[in-house]
Amino acid sequence: MLSDIDIAQAARCKPIGEIARDLGIPEEYLVPYGRNKAKVDLRFLRSLEDRPQGKLILVTATTPTAAGEGKTTVTIGLAQALVRKGKSAMLCLREPSLGPCFGVKGGAAGGGYSQVLPMEEINLHFTGDIHAVGVAHNLLSAMIDNHLQQGNPLGIDPRRVTWRRVMDMNDRALRHLVIGLGGKGDGVPRETGFDISVASEVMAILCLADGIEDLKARLGRIVVAYTYEGKPVTASDLKAQGAMAALLKEAIQPNLVQTIEHVPAFVHGGPFANIAHGTNSIAATRTALRLRDYVVVEAGFASDLGAEKFMDIVSPYGGFHPEAVVVVTTVRALKLHGGLPKDRLGEEDLEAVRAGLANLEAHIGNMQQFGVPVVVALNRFTADTDRELELVRGAVQAQGASIALAEVWAKGGEGGLELADRVLEALDKGNRYGPLYAWNLPLAEKIRTVATKVYGADGVVLEEGAAKTLKELESLGYGNLPVCMAKTQMSLSDRPELKGRPKGFEVHVREVRLSAGAGFVVAICGPIMTMPGLPKSPAAERIDIDADGRITGLF
Ligand code: ADP
Ligand code: MG
Repeated sequence: MLSDIDIAQAARCKPIGEIARDLGIPEEYLVPYGRNKAKVDLRFLRSLEDRPQGKLILVTATTPTAAGEGKTTVTIGLAQALVRKGKSAMLCLREPSLGPCFGVKGGAAGGGYSQVLPMEEINLHFTGDIHAVGVAHNLLSAMIDNHLQQGNPLGIDPRRVTWRRVMDMNDRALRHLVIGLGGKGDGVPRETGFDISVASEVMAILCLADGIEDLKARLGRIVVAYTYEGKPVTASDLKAQGAMAALLKEAIQPNLVQTIEHVPAFVHGGPFANIAHGTNSIAATRTALRLRDYVVVEAGFASDLGAEKFMDIVSPYGGFHPEAVVVVTTVRALKLHGGLPKDRLGEEDLEAVRAGLANLEAHIGNMQQFGVPVVVALNRFTADTDRELELVRGAVQAQGASIALAEVWAKGGEGGLELADRVLEALDKGNRYGPLYAWNLPLAEKIRTVATKVYGADGVVLEEGAAKTLKELESLGYGNLPVCMAKTQMSLSDRPELKGRPKGFEVHVREVRLSAGAGFVVAICGPIMTMPGLPKSPAAERIDIDADGRITGLF
């Protein structure tokens, strides 16, 4: 089979104006970026408010291997399959970050015959949204340090500036820095560092904001530091929110592209799911739900991360009602959870598959708790044997759950027809979606609920600093916010090495951060990086471009 990029380059895009016309987006609201990409004016979304909403299908996965298990690929393939069945459908994805693109995982535009186009542009820069997020974020950083330099009238404690700087790159050397060195005219020396742009609260805000006014209000609420008296200092205290919002004027508009089979897709906003809420913008999903009867949305990482946050944070903020969940799994991931080492996942091993099923069962159960019907999509890889696939199918059915083989990577929408049938059946069942916890519970109680009910932990250990911050946040009036758990994606627990379905563990909350603008409290559990590093042999070494501008090595 051809590589992802060969398939993408051989595919032909329809002019984006044609895709928009089919969706019923009037020309006055379409802002083309070249021939194959366009932004959609937010005023169009306002004009749709009275229309009925389509059905929201959320795609999540079992605990992934480092390469990813195919959520993006299945999200695209399922939407293509629904369209092949004559349904009115589209999909929503996040925008890829350059960090993983040049690191281990590669891009995030799907794979095989289920990709969004133009694949190279979506993976590299796209419409510049992540760049705009970085600049808006760093403008605020510059204004904080300037405030310290210019006499510090707010009395900001330079040791308690929580707002860092960001860049869209995996660059571990920027994690811990001392800035302001040089002398009196060169700033006030203090410790800080960089996070990756997609971990920025500005990215989370962009994805949760309702429009420009709400964007500005949320940016203004960002807490950037504390004074010597311990009072929070916000972006609006520094008068930064107006300029930040101005920088995000285009970034807040959803990006419209198409799949290989010309199915419309919004690819918009990209908060990481292990440290932020992990789904595309509310604006994109909301627009899609009013343009199509079925909207397939990907949530980042597994059910314990992106999907939990979609159910507990994004849906309440967006007014969404997820009606079915697809849990993507692969034979190779189940083998990893069944104890097989990484380098042997290509070998048939029924025992390892059987042992790994516990991980899949946990993710099915996790999603059922939210009152929404679950369908397992078994994403087929060429190395999978029929016996392995049958074993998974049988086990899932024995558990009373629904499962379909997904061959959307090899066959596009045609390979997702069985999955589409199972999903349509699930939608017919109706559902009782509800979040797992009430927002008015104490913060520690909300953390405990997610840790015990979703991660399967016995309990939560709040390390000293974390317990103190939680108390402080409650006394400052932030106690009613939902909790955004920051945790490794490599395990259901907070320890990446615990595979399968870990039992008898406690979740360690080592730090608590306030994202008052985004509207959640981040609980950082176990080792988790807000600035990833590159591996020994980064994907960047294999990416190239020829004299005609043809890019190779992206995946
Ligand atoms: P996720 O969204 O879960 O992280 P992706 O859909 O991005 O996963 O897929 C990760 C990588 O695996 C991509 O490079 C994609 O092309 C590849 N991939 C996905 N499904 C298959 C499959 N069935 N066979 C081979 N490669 C696949
Ligand atoms: Mg993905």
